[in-house]
Amino acid sequence: MEISIKEFKGLSKTTMAIENVVLPIDYKKIGNLEYHFYKKPEIRGKLSKDKSRIIGEFEINVFLEEQCSRCLKELHNSYEFQVDGVLVDENLEYEDFESIIIEDEKVNLTQILEIALIENTSIKTLCDEGCKGLCKTCGGNLNLDECICDSEEYDVDPRLEKLKDILK
Ligand SMILES: [Zn+2]
Ligand SMILES: [Zn+2]
Repeated sequence: MEISIKEFKGLSKTTMAIENVVLPIDYKKIGNLEYHFYKKPEIRGKLSKDKSRIIGEFEINVFLEEQCSRCLKELHNSYEFQVDGVLVDENLEYEDFESIIIEDEKVNLTQILEIALIENTSIKTLCDEGCKGLCKTCGGNLNLDECICDSEEYDVDPRLEKLKDILK
């Protein structure tokens, strides 16, 4: 999905709105990270001229299928990411601003999505701030009381039963 900036470059107006676009993507792999979208990503933005440069500002809505990093519960999370940068040809670089690389005077919206995902990979997903995670011994979900390790009903080895009496 690409937006041509050729026409905008020749016009006297200084801004150009990019209407909401739904990217036809359900799945994306970047390096060894995989992203599954339960709803297709949406992107919109604005281009503005600044001296000899064109600056792009984008808002991206991403609907991710994720797992709680503690209890592995499947989650549907939506995020809104912002990607801003100067549009630059591959061989040009500006140091005072993030760069969005363009080719043949076209902005690649899929690339903007990739930038947004890469910049936000450090997000740790939890089903709940207070998620208790999984029991390290039995693997039971501690939120659902699936773990019996510390429970009274847990079958105590008869040999240990005596020890319990001594400790009373
Ligand atoms: Zn959890
Ligand atoms: Zn347990």
